[in-house]
Amino acid sequence: MKNPFEKMPTVLTADELIDKAFRRAEKAASALTPKGGPRAKAREREELRVRTVSNVVRDNLRKLLDRTPGVSELPEFYRELVDTLVDRDQFHRSLGRVNWAIKTIRELEKRHVEKIRYLRDPAEIAKVRRSFYGRVADVIKSIADDLEYLNQARNVLKDLPVVDLELPTVVIAGHPNVGKSTLLRALTNAKPEVASYPFTTKGINVGQFEEHHLKYQVIDTPGLLDRPLSERNEVERQAILALKHLGKVIVYIFDPSEYCGYPIEEQIHLFEEIHREFGEFPFIVVLNKVDIADEEKIKAIEEFVMAKGLEPLRISALNGEGLDELKRRVVELVKPMVEEQARKIMERELRKYREEE
Ligand code: GDP
Repeated sequence: MKNPFEKMPTVLTADELIDKAFRRAEKAASALTPKGGPRAKAREREELRVRTVSNVVRDNLRKLLDRTPGVSELPEFYRELVDTLVDRDQFHRSLGRVNWAIKTIRELEKRHVEKIRYLRDPAEIAKVRRSFYGRVADVIKSIADDLEYLNQARNVLKDLPVVDLELPTVVIAGHPNVGKSTLLRALTNAKPEVASYPFTTKGINVGQFEEHHLKYQVIDTPGLLDRPLSERNEVERQAILALKHLGKVIVYIFDPSEYCGYPIEEQIHLFEEIHREFGEFPFIVVLNKVDIADEEKIKAIEEFVMAKGLEPLRISALNGEGLDELKRRVVELVKPMVEEQARKIMERELRKYREEE
């Protein structure tokens, strides 16, 4: 999957668009060597101007519409993120007004060209063309705010993260410095990609691994799932909750060595919050840095985790200890979900097929 707004073009301001269209029309007109008497010449030149202005404006706006996906048709993950960044109603309204401008200018073009063909006096013909210019400028100016809004929206939407929505995805959570990015690098062989993400400064890291011919995606979310949700504002929360449409499994990392700088009580508090918020997901809880952590502290966290009905796993992202087991658990949890999904899709297709028969 690509960023759905990747192809959205920069949006010219109303003034820039008017300028561009009129300049192109003048250029076309001056390149023309019309034949015939003064009337035929005036008709040909002015019709060319009208058509050029109309084409330039409509092509430009049409391209904008064609390359901008409707938010409602996007996958849920993107829909929710878009909602954190732009006002969906305003966005659609502005696209609707652009569409209106295209149609209106097309109509104006037809009417004015008809008049030009019918008039006899070159001065009158020029007047009709000027009136057309005025009308087009008015239409474009009337959508000036919409164009500006769409351009602002484009500037934020082009930075939406690029993630593969088809792949089963593991989302890593835990305080800063517990070893999330080290784990991501250790689990996935390729160099992780960094995708931008709303309301994070560092973006999210995305990597993949393959197991029994199935691909899995692992996402590390610096700045997102590393601080209590209760400290976030509403839009940040929404951007974080959008991850729900992405993840299949959460891997929560504790750092029993406390070298990360967060005492165990604080790590437990964050775990409780994320566990509550993402309760519908299976959790795999890992205790990282077991190569340097005190056994006592490891045990304390393990007891807490087991009391939650979960089975903690000791790992060292740095030296690789426990990582095979971690992969095995991910696959064990995710595979049935993927198969279940595949089964549902197949059943749905079969049903459609039978209904068609
Ligand atoms: P993040 O902020 O959660 O992504 O944490 P990092 O992956 O950047 O790790 C923070 C620090 O902990 C780095 O200096 C890592 O080298 C170190 N670290 C990560 N995993 C381990 C581990 O298993 N053992 C040890 N000793 N250090 C680790």
